[in-house]
Formats: sequence, structure tokens, C-alpha cells
Amino acid sequence: MEIEFLGGAREVGGNAVLIRTRSGTKILLDYGVRIENDQVIFPGHVAPKDLDAVVLTHAHLDHSGAIPMFFISSSPNSLATEATYRQTEVLLRDMHKLNADQLVFGEREIKKMIDRGKRVHYHEPVRVKDVEIELLDAGHIPGSAQVVINAERTLLYSGDFTTVRTKLLRGAEVPSGGFDAVVVESTYAREDHRPREELERSVLESVKETVESGGIALVPAFSVARSQEVAMILKARNFSYSVYMDGMAKDITQIYLESEEYVNGIKLLGQTVEWVRFVRGNRERERLLERPSVVITPAGMLKGGPAVYYAKSIASDPRSSITLVSFQVPGSAGAKLLEDGVLYFDNGPLKFNGRVSQFKLSAHAGRQELHDYLRRVAEGSKTFTIHGEPESCEELASWVTSEVGAEGINPVKGQRYEI
Ligand SMILES: [Zn+2]
Repeated sequence: MEIEFLGGAREVGGNAVLIRTRSGTKILLDYGVRIENDQVIFPGHVAPKDLDAVVLTHAHLDHSGAIPMFFISSSPNSLATEATYRQTEVLLRDMHKLNADQLVFGEREIKKMIDRGKRVHYHEPVRVKDVEIELLDAGHIPGSAQVVINAERTLLYSGDFTTVRTKLLRGAEVPSGGFDAVVVESTYAREDHRPREELERSVLESVKETVESGGIALVPAFSVARSQEVAMILKARNFSYSVYMDGMAKDITQIYLESEEYVNGIKLLGQTVEWVRFVRGNRERERLLERPSVVITPAGMLKGGPAVYYAKSIASDPRSSITLVSFQVPGSAGAKLLEDGVLYFDNGPLKFNGRVSQFKLSAHAGRQELHDYLRRVAEGSKTFTIHGEPESCEELASWVTSEVGAEGINPVKGQRYEI
């Protein structure tokens, strides 16, 4: 069996991993894009007619964003969970709206991909020629999966995962090992996360302080999983002030309410939705700013969405605050705000007079979780470290070689490896 990395090797995002069996079966694991400085970057080429199946681990565009390309002139066999297809549809349509000029596919291909995709449950084996494919819970976002490939060799592809329990999810399932090859993400190979409990408490205290001093607490958050997670954290801790949710996060919340199978915290989510107020329209947006409250809304790095409107509206008020709840890509509006307290939007810099803080509620395994996971699954395997900065992929590969009794490999994009 052969494995080739068409994307995601020594880079964060753009995951695309191609498996070829000796008899010629080709299975593609993810086919995502990277978006850098508003440029959409695609992974290496693969002809759709040559593919026996495309397996999508989860909805994030750095795993799903290039798949509709295959549906221009073809209709390959594709598999994912129902929750993944539903979130992917929302994210792909949004990407198309923002970047249509850079995409070779349109609404038609997105629809075709979503309509024709085979829905698979966790632990439901699917046979494609000489390959058996099984999805396991990855604990990353609702519906996210790790992939087990069973053919002449066995392979575990982690996708993006975390074993940390969150309000939405119970954490990734960790299989018991015995794989010939493991492909693992390396996002946080060089960084430990703060304990979850401590982070959740910090988020609550941050917004509480603002509201109690009469300000608006803005929480810019990804529409997928993070916005809901923050609202659920506040609900679980009996936060008693007004909380609003705005933007695409509302549509994703609705999908989660209908995806009980993939949302471990469905009961708390239901209670949270009854309590949080969904912002409907500009009038309500203006009106809510008149009283102290918390607003949870995309974009998580202040790149767009209603978060930009709220940030501008509260910038002059020293009682206001912005609580960032994820990693901020260098150069993003969120990262610049952390650096010098200034909002850089299209119409020029704007000094933010309130308090700015950051608590990274990551959906990826931190260094310790990666190590614990690899100790369980990687022994005796060839372990490929991808989806990380080059130093992170290198460091994790070396760690695997020295600590796990496996061959750690930091693969090169476009190169084929025998497993
Ligand atoms: Zn992801």
C-alpha cells in the first residue's frame, strides 16, 4: 500500500492524503483548502475518475473545501457523517459567497456533493473494493471522524481530534493500536493547553466582569462548535446576564439541535438555546448595545461577520471587552488587536478602549494529549506527522521515533511512501 500527501504536509490545513492499494484502489482522505491573505490555495491534483472514494473527516474548509471540484464533471463516491455534510454545506456556501472569483466550482457542485454523499455512522464499516473504511469519533467538532483503513495494510488517520471532553463532545475515541501506519495531526505538538476547567472559568469571569461594570462583552467565536461551546459554558455555570448569539453560528446551532447522535451535550445545548437570544436583524443588533450583555458571534478572528460591527460599536467604551477564545493567526485582526489594542478594519485603525483577553478553548489535542494518544495507537507503526507548522511536524515525528517504538516520519508534499 502507498500513501501520498497532496496537502497538509508541513503546513496547517489543506489536508489531502491519497492511499493506493497494490490492486490499484485509490481512497482520498480529505481534500481541503488553505486560505492565506484572502487567497484560496488548493491541494495537489488528483483526477476524480481515478478515485474509488473520498472520505471527509469533518466540515472545516481546510479538510473539505476542495472536494466540490470533483463534482464538476464527475460524481465520485464520497463518505462522511450526516452532521459533517450539513455543516460542510453551510461552510462551502459561505466560502463560495466570499471567494467565488477564485473557485472553479459553484453552487451546483456544492449541492451535488452534499446530495450524493453517502452518510456513514461511526463504527459502520464501508467496503470499497479491497478496502474497508471505518469512522471513529474524533471529538473535534460534531460529526468529526478519525478514519481506519483496513486493506493489505491497516492505517489510522486521526484527522483533527482532541481527547479532551468539552460541553458539546465527549472527546475522541482512542483505538487500541496494531496499525501499520498512523497519520496524525501536529497542530499543537509544541504546546500544552491550560486545563479545560481553568479556561472555562476564565472565560466566564472575563465576560462577567465586563457586564457587571456596565459594558458589552464581545466574544468573537467560530460559528462551528466554538460559539455553541462558549454559550454552553456560560449556561452550565449559571451565568445570569443577557447572552446573545449572532451570525452563521445560529444556523450551525440549529443543525446541532437536529444532530443528537453527534452532540454528546445535546441536553445542555437544548437548555442553552432556550436561554440564549438569537439576534434577528439590524434593529435588534443596535438595540442590544443599549444594555450590558454578552454577544457571541463569528468571525472568531474578527475577520468579518457581525463581530466586526460589534467591535466597532463598542470600541470607544472603556467598560467594554473583547474575549478571544481561539488561536489567532498572525496578521489577523484578532492577532493585531492582541498586539497593540487597535482594531484594523477596512476603514482604518480604530483604538479599542476596553479590555482584551484570550483563552484558547482549543478543539485540537495539545502536546500531552498527542503523546498519550500516540503511546496507545502508534507502537510498531510508521507514523506520519502532518497538519502543523514545519517545526511542530518535525518535533512530533522525532518524539515518536525516540519514545514510542515507531518510525516517525515528517512527510514531504508530493512524495509517495510505502507502508
Ligand atoms: Zn478542523
